[in-house]
Amino acid sequence: RAKEAGRGRWTLFDPKENARAVSRYAVSVRMPSALDRGEFFIDYQPLVNLADGSLAAVEALVRWRHPQLGVLGPEEFVGTAEETGLIMPLGRWVLEQACGQAADWVRRFGDRAPQLNVNLAVRQARNAGLVADLDRILRASGLQPGKLQLEITESTVVGPEDEALKSLHGLVDLGVSLAVDDFGTGWSNLAYLRDLPVSGLKIAGSFVGDLHDPAKDTHLGWRIVSGLVSLAHTLGLTVTAEGVENRADAERLRLMGCDWAQGWHFGRPVRPGEIARRIAEANLSETVDLAE
Ligand code: C2E
Ligand code: MG
Ligand code: MG
Ligand code: MG
Repeated sequence: RAKEAGRGRWTLFDPKENARAVSRYAVSVRMPSALDRGEFFIDYQPLVNLADGSLAAVEALVRWRHPQLGVLGPEEFVGTAEETGLIMPLGRWVLEQACGQAADWVRRFGDRAPQLNVNLAVRQARNAGLVADLDRILRASGLQPGKLQLEITESTVVGPEDEALKSLHGLVDLGVSLAVDDFGTGWSNLAYLRDLPVSGLKIAGSFVGDLHDPAKDTHLGWRIVSGLVSLAHTLGLTVTAEGVENRADAERLRLMGCDWAQGWHFGRPVRPGEIARRIAEANLSETVDLAE
């Protein structure tokens, strides 16, 4: 018996398991108060128009400055937030913050201000109050609904009877647009695209990121990406390639007609001030162009 108990204890205190359990615990315990304490912040990553290099949109990406664990990325807490339901207040906060920020850029830069993309959790989409919430948030911020695009995943809508479809149609009626994020990584069948009022597809970085890996079958990889670009255009959708990390991939994507690209090659997620600087610089170079 002692031996069994000993073995049990060993399992319990497996250092690797334990470290993971502790951080998950630290995350879930602190998260409810972290919003009130102002520990979350949002970085913005550029989506660039491949045809002319202009800043087409920015994606809001949430981060958590945890007092003990340092800055945590969403992969480390969004899952827990979905499980505990905290994604509801957190998601609302992200929308409020990001819409306020985007409205500020419109006030400062007019038409040059980029579209704002915000990720929508599955649970948020299922919430019947989402449309009214977002309507209120848009009015409070002063952001035109046409400047906002919500990114959903293939798992957001699982069938034609899905509750989420109703709120997604409601969002589009507000004037907001939708894009399918991480396209190609889910298991859903393509028929759902018929029922979904989406205007954009974002090709998962895992397709794009593999392309320059010599160990992978890059030829087939490119054919898949090229096929997804064609599919998007056949459906009348704007297509974005995610995870574009180098110039060669960006150029190949441009040549195959991909509309927009996002990735380290075009810029990492940055503080909003950095985005403002980029918009201002673009304005400046345009003024110079006109003067020449
Ligand atoms: P996502 O929506 O697909 O966002 C793109 C992710 O890819 C971001 O990771 C971004 O930093 C990363 N990325 C961008 N360019 C590159 C690149 O060239 N190479 C590589 N390797 N990665 C790149 P991040 O910020 O860690 O976010 C991860 C995921 O967390 C997001 O994936 C999104 O699904 C989720 N997320 C982020 N913010 C929110 C939010 O406010 N609400 C919800 N529900 N989910 C969010
Ligand atoms: Mg996204
Ligand atoms: Mg994505
Ligand atoms: Mg992703």
